[in-house]
Amino acid sequence: MIEKILLAALLLLSLALLLRLLRGKRYAHGWPARFIASPAFLQTPEWRRVRYDVLRVNDGRCELCGRNKHQLPPGEYLNIDHIQSRRARPDLALDVTNLAVLCSADNAGKGNRYADDWRHPSHPHRPRG
Ligand SMILES: [Zn+2]
Repeated sequence: MIEKILLAALLLLSLALLLRLLRGKRYAHGWPARFIASPAFLQTPEWRRVRYDVLRVNDGRCELCGRNKHQLPPGEYLNIDHIQSRRARPDLALDVTNLAVLCSADNAGKGNRYADDWRHPSHPHRPRG
């Protein structure tokens, strides 16, 4: 009798583990890494909110050149850069400690090639080492 119960429990546990494995890892709001890396992520209200908070704390200025949107030439705009890319660190995609304001020109230079953090050491969102 006890063996049957143990066997059933073991079976259920393996089934749960298998389902979890098939479903893939989920991050904030239950989003899979594939969604976080996609352009659709940038349209979510969750991202828009965090994005605005980052712009607000930065006085709407690029970390590198210090320009605000009124000082950018036509066609250039402000980006909120993922210091560590959404693909590399989906877990940090909505984390202000991983976000920095960069103008489109500076962000295009960085791309996903580097994880450079240009924020001042005293920046309120910069993790303290
Ligand atoms: Zn800039």
